[in-house]
Amino acid sequence: MSGRDTTNVTDTQYQGYSQDHPDHTDNGSAIGPAGAIGPAGATGPAGPTGTTGPNDAWERVTNRMRQDIGEAAWRNWIKPLRVGRLEDGTLTLEATSNLARERVTSQYADRLRVISAAEFGSVKKIEVRVVSRAAPRMSQQKPATKPAGEALSAGLDPRYTFANFVVGKPNELAFAVARRTAESATVAFNPLFLYGGVGLGKTHLMHAIAWHIREQDPSRNVVYLSAEKFMYRFVQALRFRDTMSFKEQFRSVDVLMIDDVQFISGKDSTQEEFFHTFNALVEDGRQVIISADKSPTDLEGMEERLRSRLGWGMVADIHPADYELRLGILQAKAEQARLAVPDKVLEFLAHRISSNVRELEGALTRIAAHASLVGREISIDSAAELLSDLLRASSRQVSVDEIQKRVAAHYDVRVAEMFSARRARNIARPRQVAMYLAKTLTSLSYPEIGRQFGGRDHTTVMHAVRSIEGLVATDQGIAEDVSLLRSLLAN
Ligand code: ADP
Ligand code: MG
Repeated sequence: MSGRDTTNVTDTQYQGYSQDHPDHTDNGSAIGPAGAIGPAGATGPAGPTGTTGPNDAWERVTNRMRQDIGEAAWRNWIKPLRVGRLEDGTLTLEATSNLARERVTSQYADRLRVISAAEFGSVKKIEVRVVSRAAPRMSQQKPATKPAGEALSAGLDPRYTFANFVVGKPNELAFAVARRTAESATVAFNPLFLYGGVGLGKTHLMHAIAWHIREQDPSRNVVYLSAEKFMYRFVQALRFRDTMSFKEQFRSVDVLMIDDVQFISGKDSTQEEFFHTFNALVEDGRQVIISADKSPTDLEGMEERLRSRLGWGMVADIHPADYELRLGILQAKAEQARLAVPDKVLEFLAHRISSNVRELEGALTRIAAHASLVGREISIDSAAELLSDLLRASSRQVSVDEIQKRVAAHYDVRVAEMFSARRARNIARPRQVAMYLAKTLTSLSYPEIGRQFGGRDHTTVMHAVRSIEGLVATDQGIAEDVSLLRSLLAN
């Protein structure tokens, strides 16, 4: 495969990066163990696989340093350094603090220079810069000039395949068009624009497309980049006055995917560059696939012409997972992980964790860890305890207003009756139920609730709450009403 050597260099670069930043959203959770990154077979584990990139050389430099200066000093000062670039005999190293820069410059620069010279060729000078590790580093001697886009797409998660994607009503359209795009040998929809909230499977679908295409036709050059990475590369190119090679990178791309494109909103020059890259590829009949958290028209801070251009092809949204899809995903994940979680517990989780799929997965992982630790099956009670923080976070704040509307709709009375003075039983009872729910689902006091029910006295509210409490215990009809309303309001 062409460009294989450079692929390794870049992969190593990002592996190092992602390990430093496990919480980075870029593809943080997407990156598995080092060996799992990239197309199967194309990428070995981090480190030398018969290639010698700058990172291997740098590794040898730091190993020598370690022998020379001892473990402790090495760990403090040398290990955190990153190799920047080598230009005109000056090797730039990147430190994370001023203190580190000073220490390295004053105490280790000479030794580093000598050892580096042996590895990198002519190193006449060591320069240490402070960089914030919030952004990825340039760990190559010179800016990337490789033609192969493949090197750009390190970090495809092997688990994110079509086979592992659970389809339900909320995501069936996105799934169908993603599949179609992956399967068609020619350009299907251009661009394909996928959008939806956090954790709903956009990245998963994009990786799935990439895997599928690679499998079907390895000669097609698929590039997957987060918008952040795109931006970073562009900024790097500007910094090294090398926008030519930046453009060059995209010239040979057959399928370009940019994930989370909302991150380039407001970044004018990046947007401009993106726009040009985008246009060039589309005009050239290459497939472009974009994801964002909003529809093209709703992307704020995006230039109008770009927004409208993004909406030209196929726009597919992913809706938040409904109960059925949540349950389906939980079942699938439990099965994949060979977890014995009782159906009741899965149903409970699907009910109570209504936000995104990532949280569902997190809940399952925690349960699995717990189960393996205590060696016994999990119950609803222990799950509730184990996940109390998650459950609390996802049970959203309900307003009195919502309660009144829901209750009125449920009992088929007008919302105005919630504030009215009428005491007919068919109206007073629903009003009491609403007050009871307001007391149990919000943190409002009796007087505050009274005010929101047409200025009633707090004793009226107290009375209502007690009556309903009593009825819930004795009257099955009321108990069912209350439990149904509760779950409706929780979603
Ligand atoms: P997004 O990019 O939209 O924020 P991701 O694609 O990263 O979301 O999805 C978050 C997690 O949820 C991933 O681990 C992904 O595999 C999982 N996930 C989301 N939707 C599904 C689905 N329909 N089936 C299986 N897993 C899913
Ligand atoms: Mg994503």
